[in-house]
Amino acid sequence: MTGKQVKTEIALKGIGVSPGIAVFSSQLLTPHTDKAVRRPISEEEVPSEILRFEDALIATHDQIKHIQKQVSQVLGDEHASIFDAHMLVVDDRTFIEDVIRTIKKDLINVEPVLQSVANRYADMLSKVEDSYLAERAADIRDVTKRILANLAGETLDQMKQIKEPCIVVAHDLSPSDTASINKTLVKAFVTDLGSSTSHTAIMAKALEVPAVVGLHNITAVVNSGETVLIDGGKGLVFVNPTEERLEEYRKRAEDQEQILLELASLRDKAPETMDGYLVPITANIELLEELEGVDARGAKGIGLFRTEFLFLGKNSLPGEEQQYEAYVRAAKSQYPSPVVIRTLDLGADKLPSGFENPDEMNPFLGDRAIRLCLSHPELFKTQLRAILRASVHDNIRMMYPMVSCVQEVMDANTLLRQCMMELSKEGIGFNQDIQIGTMIEVPSAALIADLIAPHVSFFSLGTNDLIQYTMAVDRGNENVAHLYKPTHMAIIRLIDHVVKVSRKYGLWTCVCGQMAASPHLVPLLIGLGVDELSVSPSQAPVIKDVIRKLYYSSAVELAQKALNSASAEHVEHLCRELIEEIAPEVLEL
Ligand code: PEP
Ligand code: MG
Repeated sequence: MTGKQVKTEIALKGIGVSPGIAVFSSQLLTPHTDKAVRRPISEEEVPSEILRFEDALIATHDQIKHIQKQVSQVLGDEHASIFDAHMLVVDDRTFIEDVIRTIKKDLINVEPVLQSVANRYADMLSKVEDSYLAERAADIRDVTKRILANLAGETLDQMKQIKEPCIVVAHDLSPSDTASINKTLVKAFVTDLGSSTSHTAIMAKALEVPAVVGLHNITAVVNSGETVLIDGGKGLVFVNPTEERLEEYRKRAEDQEQILLELASLRDKAPETMDGYLVPITANIELLEELEGVDARGAKGIGLFRTEFLFLGKNSLPGEEQQYEAYVRAAKSQYPSPVVIRTLDLGADKLPSGFENPDEMNPFLGDRAIRLCLSHPELFKTQLRAILRASVHDNIRMMYPMVSCVQEVMDANTLLRQCMMELSKEGIGFNQDIQIGTMIEVPSAALIADLIAPHVSFFSLGTNDLIQYTMAVDRGNENVAHLYKPTHMAIIRLIDHVVKVSRKYGLWTCVCGQMAASPHLVPLLIGLGVDELSVSPSQAPVIKDVIRKLYYSSAVELAQKALNSASAEHVEHLCRELIEEIAPEVLEL
C-alpha cells in the first residue's frame, strides 16, 4: 500500500495548569516504577544482565557517597552517618552474589530477582527483635529502590536526554523533574496525574511552559513522535490533530497574542481600581531566573520566594554562602520593593536528593515545612543566617510556611534570635527589625490568627494548602480535583476571619496561593479586604487588568453576597458573572 496513512485525531480533556498553545512532536517518558517487571532471559543474556546489575550498583554507590558528602556539609555528620549503613548494603558481597546466583539459576532479568532477594533479607531482619537490625531492613529497602531506579533510568535522566523541541508526555513529574526542564526543548508537558495547585503545576507556570495534567491515561494513548496540540488554558489535548483543528488553533493563538500584547501595555500602570483603591501586585518566584520577568510584567516586588526550589533538581544542597547570594540577588533586583523570603517548605513532594524519604504514611501531614526546619535546626539555622545577612538590604522580609500552632512561630523566632546573636558576635551586619510573617495555610492557624498575630508583622494566605487541609482534598490528586473548591463557604469564612483579625492587630494580609492568580476570584479577595496579591509573574498583567476594570465598591458588594451565600457553586457563579461583565477577554487566555 502506498500513500500516507492519516491518523485519527484523539481529543482529551484534563486540567489546564499553565496557559498557552503548543504543537510539537511528543516525547514519552517511561514511567518510573518501583515495581520490577519479570522477563525471562536466555543463557546468552546472563552476562549482560549481570553487567547491568553491576553498573547500577556502581552508580548507586557513587550517588550515596555524593549525597553523604552533601548532607554532612549542610546537616552535619550525625545525619550523614545513616548513609554508612546504606553503603554497607550496596557493598555487601553476600547479598550481591545471592542476586547473581539467582539470575543464573532462574534465567530471569535482574529487577524482580533483586527485589525478591532484598525482600527476603529485609523480612528476615525485621522479624528479629532488635531495633538495630530492624533499621537495617529499612536500609535494604531504601537501597533497593535506588538500585531499581538506576536500572530503570529515572525520569530526570530521560529529561536530560531530550535533544529536539517536543511536548513531554509523562505519567507524573515531580517538582524536581520540572525544576530541571530545559524550556528551549520542552515546549509543553502533559501528565496522567496532577491537579491545578500541585507543585508541578506551579513550576510549569514559573517556566511559562503550557501544561495540562490529570489526563489519567495520556501515556497509554500517545506514542513518542506523534503530533500533539495542547491548549493549556482550557486543559485540552489533541493527539494527531486534524488540519481543521490546527487552523482553528493558529487563529486562536493569534487572538491570544493580541490580548497579551494589550495587557503588556499595563506594565507601568498602577494596580488601582476604577474608584482609586490600590491593590499591590507582587510576584511568586521559584527560580532566580524569574526575577527579570517581575518588573517586566508590571509586578512590584516578591510576595513569595519559594526557597526550597534552590534545593530541588540539584546535585548539591546550597550552603549559607550560596543561599546568601541568591537572597541578595533577589533583594537587589527588586529594591526598594519588598522581597518576602519564605523559609524552606521542604518535605512531602518536595524532597531534594540527600534527604532520605522518611517513609511516612501521610507525608503532606508529616514532617514538612516549618516542622522539618525545626526538627533539623542545622539546616534551618543555615538558612536563617543567610537571610539575616542578606537583610542588610532592608527590603527583605521573611515568613514561615505551614504554621499550625503558636509554639512553632515562637520556636522559629527563638532560633532566629540565636542566629542574630551569633552574627552580632561575629561582627556581621543584619537588619535587627526584619519583618517576620507567617503563612496562613493550615485551618488551625487561620482559626487562631489572633493568637499568632502578636508574634508577627504580616500574614500570607496560602490558599493552595488552606483549601487542601480544610476540605481534606489532596491538591495534587486528579481523582478528587472536583472537590477542591476555592469558593467553598469554609474557605470564604476563613479568609474573612483572617483579614478581620489582621486589621484588628494592625497587620497586613497577602494572598499568595493560586486563588490570587485566578482572575474571577480576584474581585472576591479584594472585597474581603485582602491587602496584596502575589502571583506568578506571567499572570501579573492579567490580574492588573482585572483590578483596573473593577470598582472597589462592586468587590465589597460581591464579598458581602458571597459571605451570605450557602454554596460554593453560588459564589462561583457570582464571581464568574462579575468577571464576564468587566473583563471577559481574560477568560480567553
Ligand atoms: C499555598 O499553599 O497556597 C502556597 C502559596 O504555598 P505552596 O503552593 O508553595 O504550598
Ligand atoms: Mg503551601
